[in-house]
Amino acid sequence: MQFKDIKGQTLTANHLTEIIDSGRVSHAQLFLGDTASGSLALAIAYAQYLNCEHRQHYDAAGPDGLRADSCGECPSCKKYQQLTHSDLHLFFPNAATATVKGNNISVADFQSEFREFLNAKHQTGTLDEWYEFMQIENKQGLIRERDADEMVRTLGMKSYEGGYKVAIIWMAEKMNAQTANKILKCLEEPTPGTLIILVAESSDKMLSTIISRTQLVKVRNICNEVRNASDEFRTLYVTWMRQLFKLNMASLSAWVDTLHSKSREVQKQFLLFAQESVRDAFLRNNAGLPSQIDFGDEKFNNSFPAMITEHNIEALNDAFNNAIFAIERNAYGKIAFMELSFRISKALKKR
Ligand SMILES: [Zn+2]
Repeated sequence: MQFKDIKGQTLTANHLTEIIDSGRVSHAQLFLGDTASGSLALAIAYAQYLNCEHRQHYDAAGPDGLRADSCGECPSCKKYQQLTHSDLHLFFPNAATATVKGNNISVADFQSEFREFLNAKHQTGTLDEWYEFMQIENKQGLIRERDADEMVRTLGMKSYEGGYKVAIIWMAEKMNAQTANKILKCLEEPTPGTLIILVAESSDKMLSTIISRTQLVKVRNICNEVRNASDEFRTLYVTWMRQLFKLNMASLSAWVDTLHSKSREVQKQFLLFAQESVRDAFLRNNAGLPSQIDFGDEKFNNSFPAMITEHNIEALNDAFNNAIFAIERNAYGKIAFMELSFRISKALKKR
């Protein structure tokens, strides 16, 4: 996994590559955030970057504002891309299934299934989706002592390929107390050249002794509107913003007709998407970065954030809230969209 293939996590990716480039890699880290938002994908991309033989650095911002990424081409990257690198060890919740039975099941029994699952879901599949994939029906998966034993054993061996040995524990909150205590030993007395990444959605059920021994990487949750934004929403948005900047009445009127022809729910979803996009642009602009949302238009991605500043963000936000409120109350769409367009156009001039 390369960082460029993870949507909406540029800030975290830049933070992670910076840690590695500055040589401050902590041997135990906790990536906290939703898997669907990319927490596991980021952990794998991080390990791939750490082991990459030709790390790429971009003078100006690279794809989606990235400052660095793994090359994707060197032997180590190729094995990471396939999830077949001999020094990458994956641990995850597991349970007996119809085909894998007995009292001694462990992660070792599901390695190929788990990789299949990761590939199928671009490393962003959720725990429920994993359970469904492995068909454990109503049982709950756990990371057991046997899994911890396996980890202690693997990390105790020499690295196969000479680089870092990496253990990633996905859904680390599914470790029971015995497992956690065994893992604790690895965290306390790390073998050199070893990296342990715990990936969790919540730290509430994790032992505080574990948390205190890891470096925390918070992974931002990306809201559904942004994650699932359809191509149509993106195109609609880019066209609209360009029209508003120039205030071309004829094309604006045609645009309003297009949005008006959609169902109320779609109209509302689009406005929420647009509001989130403006908010995202404001954050990027303040951090001096290009947009985190890929609008499929490089020029727009790079130039739009600069339009949203502390001088107009509040007016823009109010305008969106009013329009969303109006649509929810069944106001006449054409008027609501036209009024919103004028307010946005005015605000964009105040940057
Ligand atoms: Zn590489």
